[in-house]
Amino acid sequence: MLLIHCPYCREERPELEFRHAGEAHIARPADITSISDEEFTQFFFLRTNPKGTAHERWRHIHGCGRFFNAVRDTVTDRFAMTYEAGLPHPDRRDPDIGNGKAKSKGAKT
Ligand SMILES: [Zn+2]
Repeated sequence: MLLIHCPYCREERPELEFRHAGEAHIARPADITSISDEEFTQFFFLRTNPKGTAHERWRHIHGCGRFFNAVRDTVTDRFAMTYEAGLPHPDRRDPDIGNGKAKSKGAKT
């Protein structure tokens, strides 16, 4: 069973307690009425869908109910780390901020 670390509950829980919530770090434009149709399309519809490392939002829907971010490999389905929503992208911040550690292990069996 895949275990996912919730950064708020501070424990690993079964994947059945969580729900994927899309790509992380999508910034809403400050004035959405002033952007072009192409910029709106990019913001609202287009996502990266990478093969390999992906930065995703997840929700601990059957636990604390809170949203958090995760770094997951889409090929192996392994979580490299999870961190609280609102923290900067892990590649763009001081490594001492947030838990910064791999907290989930295992793969679907
Ligand atoms: Zn939780």
